Amino acid sequence: MATAKYIVGNWKLHGNAQENAARLAALKERCRPDDALAVCVPFPYLAQAQQALQGSTIGWGAQNVSEHAKGAFTGEVSAAMLADFGCGCAIVGHSERRSLYGEDDATVARKAQAVAEAGMTPIVCVGETLAERERGETAQVVTRQLAAVLAHVSAETKRRLVIAYEPVWAIGSGRAASEEDVHEVHAMLRGQLEQAGVTGTRLLYGGSVKASNAGALLNIADVDGALVGGASLDAEEFLAIAQAARV
Ligand code: PEP
Repeated sequence: MATAKYIVGNWKLHGNAQENAARLAALKERCRPDDALAVCVPFPYLAQAQQALQGSTIGWGAQNVSEHAKGAFTGEVSAAMLADFGCGCAIVGHSERRSLYGEDDATVARKAQAVAEAGMTPIVCVGETLAERERGETAQVVTRQLAAVLAHVSAETKRRLVIAYEPVWAIGSGRAASEEDVHEVHAMLRGQLEQAGVTGTRLLYGGSVKASNAGALLNIADVDGALVGGASLDAEEFLAIAQAARV
């Protein structure tokens, strides 16, 4: 039974079979049974992650999913297809999906429902842009994004949700949010979830998490783990973050 905080790697559009093999082998060899780790890899490498991580406690998942179950949606991958061969989780509503591919709150909510209905864990990202923060709209934006999901999904899906607070300006920028800001937003999200009757949800922070700041960020109240982009591509960094996540 994992006791550590939940650390999820988002490989984004990176990797190849050879690089992945080395990274996955290092994670498998050096993680501890009580670590709670997962990697979200590009679709073509899901089977590689499945095979390489067999016999370990490291989960593996996707970075996106179709909101549709089946049909004429060329290029899409359904949640049932992911679940078919054991995929455990999928990120939905990453800010790059929202900003580059036009995913709105309603689409993200439908994707979260599709992931949970297939028996997997939806990792739902919320977060404000720099302009929104500067206009003082952070609370409004993240509560709107979470509210859209809570309004749409089933009671069972609510129990499965993982929420990742990822301020858009902190993603890939090398500049993580301050401990005060993370604390404030996580407390607000926790309150919103509890008001909706949802308890025990894991709240992850994401945005320039690395080995050197993971300890401080993971120590903040209501931070139950981290969603890690760039640093998850380096096995040493990711394992050091995993170490900081041990409680
Ligand atoms: C992400 O892509 O979800 C992310 C948090 O990226 P990074 O850790 O590189 O900021």
